[in-house]
Amino acid sequence: MGLLDGKVALITGGSRGIGKSMVEVFVEQGASVAFTYRSSAEEALAIADGLNSDSQKVKAYQSDAASFEAAESLTKEILAEFGKIDVLINNAGITKDNLLLRMNEDQWDAVINVNLKSVFNLSKHVMRSMLKARSGSIIHVSSVVGVFGNAGQANYAASKAGVIGFSKSLAKEIGSRGIRSNVIAPGFIETDMTHVLDEKTKETFMANIPLKQLGTGKDVADTAVFLASDMSKYVTGQVLSVCGGLNM
Ligand code: NAP
Repeated sequence: MGLLDGKVALITGGSRGIGKSMVEVFVEQGASVAFTYRSSAEEALAIADGLNSDSQKVKAYQSDAASFEAAESLTKEILAEFGKIDVLINNAGITKDNLLLRMNEDQWDAVINVNLKSVFNLSKHVMRSMLKARSGSIIHVSSVVGVFGNAGQANYAASKAGVIGFSKSLAKEIGSRGIRSNVIAPGFIETDMTHVLDEKTKETFMANIPLKQLGTGKDVADTAVFLASDMSKYVTGQVLSVCGGLNM
């Protein structure tokens, strides 16, 4: 028996990294999963092909999380195919790092749109069906950088801090309707997003991680299972860091 038996989850950005681990772990725990990607069609379709079964539907959707209209049609399509959405995970995210002195408007807008506006887009549309069902769990993937800040990431840190404020407000709006909203704040997780960092930056991170290892996508996915499942039915409005104790 899985912790998510019978539940339907929508996970944004499930083609790679943390989102891909979430898709895999959620299926292991009994969920049916709809997930999105932006451009990695081959990877996304291979994941869905490998996990889809008669008892658990798994399907990939090409959908830009930054688009309000795309979020609306995606939600309609998934509800028509899966019948309901019990869990929404706002995971899709990007970085466009630069010191503020050199950061241009495009770098600011892109990161805010994909990381923060997407959270508004998906939550707003998916929430309607959760309100009717009077139950649901919404999980937003922020970052420890949204709490501590980080030089060269003013756009990213602002987007991730915004996600925390959004989630805490949403938790207050919809708690009485049986819907929970929580944040996971990962630290340094080994994915494509962190592979691009130079060795010096990685060493600095490592020196500040008491558990002395980098995190994996599965570490974050396991925490998402907890927040998606009834194991956390009295948990809302919280920020759960998955960071090996990282203190920046
Ligand atoms: P990743 O390996 O770069 O994967 C990003 C995923 O998001 C991909 O599936 C990508 O799809 C999707 N995506 C990007 N832009 C999108 C858009 N506009 N619409 C829909 N999907 C989009 O990143 P990751 O490391 O797994 O990060 C996942 C989340 O965790 C992000 O929100 C990130 O900010 C957060 N996070 C990561 C770390 C870390 O150390 N890795 C730490 C803290 C927080 P395509 O494959 O099609 O591009």
